[in-house]
Amino acid sequence: MRNNDEQSWESVDRRAVLGGILRTTMTGLAVGTGLLGCTPAARTVARPMPDLPTATPIGLPTRTPVAPVAATEATLPGVLARTQWTSARPRTSDMRKQAPLRNITIHHDGLASPLGSASTSASKARLDLIRRAHVGQGWSDIGYHFAVDRAGNVWQCRPLEWEGAHVKRHNPGNVGILVMGNFDIERPTDAQLRAVCTHVNMLKRTYRIADSSVKSHREWAGAATACPGKHLQPKFSGMRSRSFRV
Ligand SMILES: [Zn+2]
Repeated sequence: MRNNDEQSWESVDRRAVLGGILRTTMTGLAVGTGLLGCTPAARTVARPMPDLPTATPIGLPTRTPVAPVAATEATLPGVLARTQWTSARPRTSDMRKQAPLRNITIHHDGLASPLGSASTSASKARLDLIRRAHVGQGWSDIGYHFAVDRAGNVWQCRPLEWEGAHVKRHNPGNVGILVMGNFDIERPTDAQLRAVCTHVNMLKRTYRIADSSVKSHREWAGAATACPGKHLQPKFSGMRSRSFRV
């Protein structure tokens, strides 16, 4: 079994990976060659950010000790099927089956140019760009399980039955949700934030995941990243403090 899914997108040089893809295939998409990614470019990793919450935020409800629920193959309610944006199939021979779900992690894509558009075509193009970049890196598929666009659509990405590739060393049982856009340079829309709340709530109920087990990427111990960006992180913290109620 390949080991590439142990990595997270944040740990690779996506400037090089995406730059090549963009130059050859994405000329219609407003993304430049200076790609940053959900990641920590070296300069953002250099020093710790003093105001980061710890991996287990203080004051949040403690986890309820109930048996975890296994992920299923079924497309979840309110989620646009993967086939809506790609005909490519995951290379499942290289992938690990998902462990019982225990965590949810929120990301942004961190591409150098903002998403800006709420159009379905822009969302599809951006998802395809990200998937091809991940595959180009040697991974089996796009690393995230879901993506939420600026119109509030929730797109299925990597099927939930397969372990994701989005938080280095913390992928088993961890649902990866990509909030589309770069929230260091743009702000999430209200529709996008509502959709994140609705989707997280549905996952929490379905898989018995506590609020304290829903984190942003930067909140994971050892995650050297600014993901999900300075404009989304405080919104995410507020949503969690309200148990993701819309
Ligand atoms: Zn991330």
